[in-house]
Amino acid sequence: GAMRHLPYFCRGEVVKGFGRGSKELGIPTANFSEQVVESFPSDIPTGIYYGWACVGNGDVHKMVLSIGWNPFYKNIKKSVETHIIHTFKEDFYGEILSIVITGYIRPEKNFDSLDALISAIQEDIEEAKRQLDLPEHLKLKEDNFFHLPGGKIVNN
Ligand code: ADP
Ligand code: MG
Repeated sequence: GAMRHLPYFCRGEVVKGFGRGSKELGIPTANFSEQVVESFPSDIPTGIYYGWACVGNGDVHKMVLSIGWNPFYKNIKKSVETHIIHTFKEDFYGEILSIVITGYIRPEKNFDSLDALISAIQEDIEEAKRQLDLPEHLKLKEDNFFHLPGGKIVNN
């Protein structure tokens, strides 16, 4: 299911999310606009993925990503949220986020408690870090997608 769409390259503006308190949990997720989400293959499975991400012309970092159902649209549309495995000094709403999704971890799940949710995400992050050090994933960190001529970011 998921694998045949990967690697998946995507670039778009970071918008305000649902204010579900991801940041308060220590796992902020940069949300893509509805328009960017609509450009994803409609049959890409929901779940947790990993890959590489870069904000503006910044450094390329490891990331974990969730493709989930969008509560604003009664779960008929998807949402795409990227947690970059890096500590940023400031928020970056309105900036251009570039990502390449290289692997799939697991389907979406419901958790009995907040603690269970947080520990699952911590495990996802550790799994992503390990996988991304493997040559087949590491090579995409250096992809030209992240290093456009003149450092300019061009949308689509
Ligand atoms: P929202 O509901 O608006 O998406 P979040 O609590 O998920 O709010 O926080 C997401 C915002 O946090 C991002 O849009 C970004 O500006 C900021 N942010 C800071 N550090 C990170 C990070 N490591 N990964 C993702 N977003 C981050
Ligand atoms: Mg978010």
